[in-house]
Amino acid sequence: MRTLAILGATGSIGTQTLDIARRYPDRIKVDCLVVHSSAEKLFELVREFRPSVAAMTKQPDSIPEDLHFCQWFFGEDCSSRALKAAKSQDALCAIVGIAGLDAVWTALDVCERVLLANKEALVTGGPLVTANAARLNKPLLPVDSEHSAIFQCLQARQGNPVRRLILTASGGALRTWDKARIAKATVDEVLAHPTWKMGRKITVDCATMLNKGLEIIEAYHLFGLPEDKIDAIVHPQSIIHSMIEFEDGATLAQMGYPDMRGPIGYALGYPERLPYGAKPLDFASLAQLTFEAPDTERFPCLNLARAALRDSDSAPIVLNGANEVAVDAFLNRYIPFGAIPAIIESALNICPTKQINNIDDVYETDAMARRAALDALGRFL
Ligand code: NAD
Ligand code: MG
Repeated sequence: MRTLAILGATGSIGTQTLDIARRYPDRIKVDCLVVHSSAEKLFELVREFRPSVAAMTKQPDSIPEDLHFCQWFFGEDCSSRALKAAKSQDALCAIVGIAGLDAVWTALDVCERVLLANKEALVTGGPLVTANAARLNKPLLPVDSEHSAIFQCLQARQGNPVRRLILTASGGALRTWDKARIAKATVDEVLAHPTWKMGRKITVDCATMLNKGLEIIEAYHLFGLPEDKIDAIVHPQSIIHSMIEFEDGATLAQMGYPDMRGPIGYALGYPERLPYGAKPLDFASLAQLTFEAPDTERFPCLNLARAALRDSDSAPIVLNGANEVAVDAFLNRYIPFGAIPAIIESALNICPTKQINNIDDVYETDAMARRAALDALGRFL
């Protein structure tokens, strides 16, 4: 039996993690639940899982009488206070955005293993987070499907060097659209992801393809290969979740129908696998798997991410902060979809390179990026 904290428990990843936990009550004890603002949903989960700690950034008017058995925390820093109180063995970090970095940072200190869905924590805090994980000798287990796929393929490595990582990308909701139409895509069109059902922010990132850029940065930090050895290929069926290539050209792929319970379960059970009722692949009905090179002309965010990764430790923080501002503005229908890459690029041009020595430097750079993005955003209102 292992105890588990779930940060972002009401989200897409959080909900699927709870689905696995329900199937393994004698292996997984959920003892800490953290969410942003959905009080009623959290109350239901606390009733069902009876964790010792629960937390919300937004304080509800009251806590129902029957839920007083649990220790409650509120406020912006509730996730790290909750983690310290619960001291769970595993922390599944699935808060969206840099808002989740604090939880990842604390989880490395107080938990035995960190199961990481929150890619923005690595994009922004990558060098610090991985150095801390190494210093504390704590495993950082990937939950993002591409990184889980690579991690699974790496189990067959046996000390051999890896020549290339190949991340697959669905291509997002606008994959086949021309540039003029992409620029005017509506929120509903962008949120209609062809293969994965996910939170809104990551679904927009898939449509700009910045998601793949963030994942290249994430892979760089998790697996330590240089940027030019991390490729991305569009694979619309989302059956191959990613690949690794050895020096003799042999390429290993991890495959399955798209279902995040696969990578979540792999991280939760690692090194054991936790079956969750996945359908076996039916190759005859799949008939064909197709691939295409990413079109960086129609989807410029991929190259912005690569350039930021090559540039400095601060540029990926700027990339991420500007994107969070732009995506939020798009989802609130303030700016057109086509403004997102322009706002990110503008923030990257305006913000000077900063030395990143500690977590405060990360937050300062993020704040600078947000100011630059808000300035740039004004042009599109
Ligand atoms: P989501 O929007 O569905 O859920 C986010 C969760 O985080 C919610 O429970 C919300 O209450 C909570 N939250 C938001 N801000 C918070 C804050 N400041 N403090 C505490 N809790 C907060 O998002 P998601 O799709 O589940 O994605 C979560 C993370 O996992 C993202 O970083 C995303 O990139 C990554 N990820 C998601 C998927 C997927 O299939 N959904 C796949 C790969 C990676
Ligand atoms: Mg992914």
